Amino acid sequence: MLEQTDKNYIIQTYARNYTNFTHGSNATLFDDQEKSYIDFTSGIGVVSVGHAHPEMVKTISEQAAKILHISNLYVIEPQAKLGEALSLHYGKPVKTFFANSGAEANEGAIKIARKYGEMQGQVNGLPKKYKIITLAHSFHGRTISALKATGQPSMHNYFGPFPDGFTYADNIESVEEQIDDHTVAVMIELVQGEGGVEALNKAKVQALATMLKNRGILLIVDEVQTGVYRSGAFTASQAYGIEPDVITLAKGLGGGVPIGAIMTPLDVLKTGDHGSTFGGNYLVTQTGLTVLDILDKEQKSGALKERAAYFQEKMQTLFEAHKDLFTASVGVGLIRGLRVKDAETLAKIIPAAHEKGVLVLKAGRNTLRFLPPLTITKEEVDLGFARLEDAIRSL
Ligand SMILES: *Cc1c(COP(=O)(O)O)cnc(C)c1O
Repeated sequence: MLEQTDKNYIIQTYARNYTNFTHGSNATLFDDQEKSYIDFTSGIGVVSVGHAHPEMVKTISEQAAKILHISNLYVIEPQAKLGEALSLHYGKPVKTFFANSGAEANEGAIKIARKYGEMQGQVNGLPKKYKIITLAHSFHGRTISALKATGQPSMHNYFGPFPDGFTYADNIESVEEQIDDHTVAVMIELVQGEGGVEALNKAKVQALATMLKNRGILLIVDEVQTGVYRSGAFTASQAYGIEPDVITLAKGLGGGVPIGAIMTPLDVLKTGDHGSTFGGNYLVTQTGLTVLDILDKEQKSGALKERAAYFQEKMQTLFEAHKDLFTASVGVGLIRGLRVKDAETLAKIIPAAHEKGVLVLKAGRNTLRFLPPLTITKEEVDLGFARLEDAIRSL
């Protein structure tokens, strides 16, 4: 029934599973038959504090009883406070623009770079700089510019013509070769999520950041997936010891409500340059504040670090036990992956895991990807890996 309604009325852009999930608690989900599943996906890195966290329930219901939305033509108290909180967490004086998604945050970052290029040209009497270099295997979103910025040509089929000014480097070492007089920015993920949980080398990232600073080129770091403690640190940029000119956030920041953020120390966008009807409303920013409160406690008590270490240990055990299937263990913090020997095997593991009651993701480079809630308990980790082990044995 539900499956048929979906097929009749929803544009079928996803290869969907038709399990009807009805409720959850932390990293455990239940379907309409009361079957339980351990959620190693967080809804693709979104439900950072788990399902139905009591503080989230309280915040969202209390906020709904007051104000959900007033336009950005008026000051929004939780928005200002969340902007302040982001700057405090990041530890640098940055300002934020709130959007509604990752792609939209990246669109805003691209606009900042383009206007910065215009302003530089006016100061130096040189032609406008506008080109942005991104990496092969990157993922920056589905809107037209963010899609063009995405270094996966197969995703560009059908949707051209695209805006000009995007070029791609095969890897971080070859970024410099791509730079020309029109280059205004380089945009990277520090751990490529969709591209296969590929963590860039720290020394190489630092060298890139220094080179870009010396050449007056902006560094934009897309932390839509890695941000808000997913990597262990508040931002992966802090863990990498770099200070990008723009950082974008989205997925984990709202814990399930749609939010995107562009953080920057640059003073580029002025009144009228950018906007969003929904961006940063009472609901999403008050919820974002609660997400940060919950995760701060986890971080300060050391629980976050412990959970990540425990998850990694269990994943490593699975890896060691199945070297016939897995070729590498990758990732940092609670963005982790196991490289599978081929695409067919990966395609079998995911439904088998579902059958046994554990949700896992795939990513590029034949990667079995794990993005559990950052609040996942030891018991949930144990149960999830036991079910995954069962699933693998059943192949
Ligand atoms: C998911 C993701 C995006 C796109 O976010 P949406 O909210 O789906 O628009 C962009 N960049 C990265 C690194 C992502 O992981």
